[in-house]
Amino acid sequence: MNVLVVEDERNLADAICRILQDAGYNAEACYDGRSGLASARSDMYDAIVLDVMLPGMSGFEIVHELRRDRIATPVLMLTARTATTDKVEGLDAGADDYMTKPFEAPELLARLRALTRRQGEVVLDESTFADLTLDLNTHDLRCGGRSVHLSGKEFEVLEMLMGSNARVVSKQDLLTRVWGTDGETSENSVEAYISFLRKKLTHLKSCARITTLRMLGYRLERFDGPSAS
Ligand code: CA
Repeated sequence: MNVLVVEDERNLADAICRILQDAGYNAEACYDGRSGLASARSDMYDAIVLDVMLPGMSGFEIVHELRRDRIATPVLMLTARTATTDKVEGLDAGADDYMTKPFEAPELLARLRALTRRQGEVVLDESTFADLTLDLNTHDLRCGGRSVHLSGKEFEVLEMLMGSNARVVSKQDLLTRVWGTDGETSENSVEAYISFLRKKLTHLKSCARITTLRMLGYRLERFDGPSAS
């Protein structure tokens, strides 16, 4: 297992590396924020031990950048400060666990073991279908190198279709779930949003299509025809 240690106090960084190496891990140290981010971006580590207070770039910024780049490597943040706002900020930025300095070697190793056990469960906030990836936070829909932004209702409709596992979703279900039961919205609205989404899928050159099943509703399907790319 490869662990990246980003800590500007060289004695501490080297001590952490030795603890990890003695425990059988491969460990490498970076001593400032920017080189730490560059190494972490290589996505070749199984875990990152990340100090908060770093020259160049804080640990919070590094973990935020990594998660934005969809790098899900587990991060254990280190800080000398014990303020809970630090802990909240670190976890909000996308860190997986938090440890205050000073700490004992067994605690570091136990936390790393727990983090890497959980690695398979690190969930990025996105939904996928065929060649589509829907970001559940930003509402961006991606396909290959292309991306479009979905409006609130477009997002909700597509999320429901993606979540239905290629089963048919009725117009009435879409109306109830996306528009609520105010009785003001007609089925024409559903048709309009399906049409918007179809245009966006075409624009993305996705192999996913929304098919209409008369009297039944809609289904998101994968087509591997010649127009798919
Ligand atoms: Ca520091």
